[in-house]
This record gives sequence, C-alpha cells and structure tokens, in this order.
Amino acid sequence: MSLASFWHQQQTKPGLALAFLLLITVLGSCSTEGPYHLYRGDIMGTTYSVQVAEHLVNPEQLQLEQSVLEILSAVDASMSTYKPDSELSRLNRLPPGEWMQISAELVEVLSLSQKINRQSQGAFDITVGPLVALWGFGPQQQKEYRREELPADSAIQQLHKQLGMDGLELDKAENLARRVRDVQLDLSAIAKGYAVDQLARHLFKLGLRNYLVEVGGELRASGKNARGRPWTVGIEKPELQRGIAFAAVQLRNKAIATSGDYRNFLTIDGKRYSHTIDPRTAWPVNHALASVSVLHDSAAAADAWATALNVLGPEQGFALAEKLGLLVFMIVRDDENTYLTRESAAFSAYNQNTVTD
Ligand code: FAD
Repeated sequence: MSLASFWHQQQTKPGLALAFLLLITVLGSCSTEGPYHLYRGDIMGTTYSVQVAEHLVNPEQLQLEQSVLEILSAVDASMSTYKPDSELSRLNRLPPGEWMQISAELVEVLSLSQKINRQSQGAFDITVGPLVALWGFGPQQQKEYRREELPADSAIQQLHKQLGMDGLELDKAENLARRVRDVQLDLSAIAKGYAVDQLARHLFKLGLRNYLVEVGGELRASGKNARGRPWTVGIEKPELQRGIAFAAVQLRNKAIATSGDYRNFLTIDGKRYSHTIDPRTAWPVNHALASVSVLHDSAAAADAWATALNVLGPEQGFALAEKLGLLVFMIVRDDENTYLTRESAAFSAYNQNTVTD
C-alpha cells in the first residue's frame, strides 16, 4: 500500500447517524515500516476499528480480536436502547421509585452524564429519549415511522415536562439506580465514547501503548502509528457529500468526538431538524454551528461535551468551552457555502505542539 493518506469514512447502516470524524490513517501505518494490526467490525448500529502499531507477543495480546468484541458487546448489552433486554432498557421499564442493581460500568456512565449535565447547564441531558423518539430519531426510527411533519406542540410540551436529570437517582456506593419519575434514559451521546475508553483501558492493561481505537466516529489514540508518528485524524467538511476533509488534528494520547447537524437530520417543509435536542426548548437545535469537535483525555467525556456544545451553539458553547478550558474546534456556517472556524484557546495551544516530520 502506498504512503498516501486515505480517508476512511465511518459507514453506519442507512438512516443511522453517521460518525462525523473521518479517520486519516497514513497508509504507512500498514507499511512494512513497523508492526501493524487492524481489527474492524459492526456494532451499536455503526462500525468500530482498532489499530495497533506493535508486535503482539503474548497469548492475551494474540486474543485481541476476540477480547475487543467481548468488551464492545458488554457495553452494548448494558447501555443500548435498541436492545429491550439491556440494563438501560430494563431500568427504563422499572416502575419509578424502584431501585435496580446495575453494573459499575453503567454507574460510571450515568454519573459522568450527571456531572456533564451540571457543567453544561443542562445542555447534555440523557433524559431526552422520548423527545428523540418524538422527533423521529432513535430506535423507533427504524420500526415505526420516519417523521414527515412537525410533532404536535401539545406532544412536545407534554414530554418537555418529563425531562430532567433530577428524574434519575444513583447510589454509587451500592451500584444502584432508580428513576424517581417516568424519565427515559438515552446514552447514545456518551456510550460509544465510553466503549472507546473501555477498549483503550483494555489495550493498556495488555501492555500495548501504540494504538488508535474508534467506535462510530469517536476516537482515542495512544503513542505512535507504524511510522513512528502521532496518529492523525480528519474532521469532515459539514456537508452532505461525504469524505471531504476540512481539517486534520494529531491525537497525542487524546480522544476526539464530533457532533453536528449535517448527517442525521429530518427535513420537514424544506427545513432541516437535527437529531440533537435542546432540552431547554425540547426542539432540535437551531443555530449556525455545523459541527463541533472536542479533544479530551476521555472519549466518553469528548462524546458528551460535543453534544452539549452542539446544543449550546456557537456563542454560548464557545464561551463555556473557554471558561472550562476545553479543547474545542467549531465549524460555523456564515452563509450557505462558506464556514468560519473557531478554536478554543486550549485547542490552539494544543495544536501548536503539532509534531512534524
Ligand atoms: P451523537 O451526535 O453522538 O449524539 C446524538 C444522539 O444523542 C441523538 O441521536 C440522541 O439519541 C441523543 N441526544 C440528542 N440530544 C441530546 C442531548 N441534548 N443530550 C444528550 N443526548 C442527546 N443504532 C442502531 O441503528 N442500531 C443499534 O443496534 C444501535 N445500538 C446502539 C447501542 C448503543 C450502546 C449506543 C450508544 C447506540 C446505539 N445505536 C444503534 C445508535 C447509533 O450508534 C448512534 O449512537 C446514534 O445514531 C447517534 O450517533 P451519533 O454519533 O450521530 O450521535
């Protein structure tokens, strides 16, 4: 394979939210310049890939393909709203007030969701499940209908009243959770990132230090690729046409996630409605921010913050990112065909240390 870089676009099943990040893998990583292993597959209605730029030397490392799938399947079995028997689906069906024993992993993700909900002033809110369904996204999208007209205002208001993270209670010491009223929890904006973190933890535990992990466009890198260079990923131009590179960023032991309005949306009466819901209005976000990418040590946090800042929009989102010192890259539409970009100060400082050849 040549050294040319290629754009590997994350393909998910038709009609599903496509990952926003394009993976630039310098083909050198699969050249003879260094050891290279690639594992890929489908899960959670999207794709995953694990690239390791090291020799696999012991039995556990040689079992990597199997253990990767086991880890991803465990997250799916716990946090899917597409599986009726997942932990999350069972919690969503338990009568309000009743405690449920849950896994430490689900406690970790629900607790992080509570934290980012507070820090994002409510913009990240995993109780949006029913509104996501009302607007025609999520599990029901495949089964029941593809929305072609606006939901009734009464239905929006009805569900808006049920929204709110105060509807979830956790007992972290005992790994217990309960809904205190009929909220429906949806982890689509954080659990893929969490799956990436779980894979990264596993690779680290196996003694591997040079890898790039991706699930549905959420990525996390460690060390170097097979050419001894930092892993570099691309951010897609926020347009319907796929595979157009807009920017590239080196991941130096960082994760990255992107949220935007140009892949998974509805068009009703000629207007576009994104799959990201603003919990303050119960309507899909409506602003000029086309996509927002967040770099973070944790892919779960990057995933959740990308959605939170997408809700807050180009002004409020950028101001909060600056206040919290988040590494953020925004692509903002200033008219139909041109874009402005905004980098937080932390992102600019990080990017100044780009490693060149
Ligand atoms: P992101 O941009 O990362 O998040 C948008 C999603 O987050 C929305 O779709 C909505 O669900 C939710 N959301 C919207 N607004 C907010 C808000 N304000 N705060 C918090 N969350 C919000 N899809 C399938 O078709 N089949 C499957 O079997 C399947 N299984 C899955 C299992 C798991 C564990 C997960 C996490 C997802 C699964 N999915 C499945 C969904 C799919 O993988 C994507 O997660 C989904 O399409 C959105 O991906 P995204 O990266 O575009 O969304």
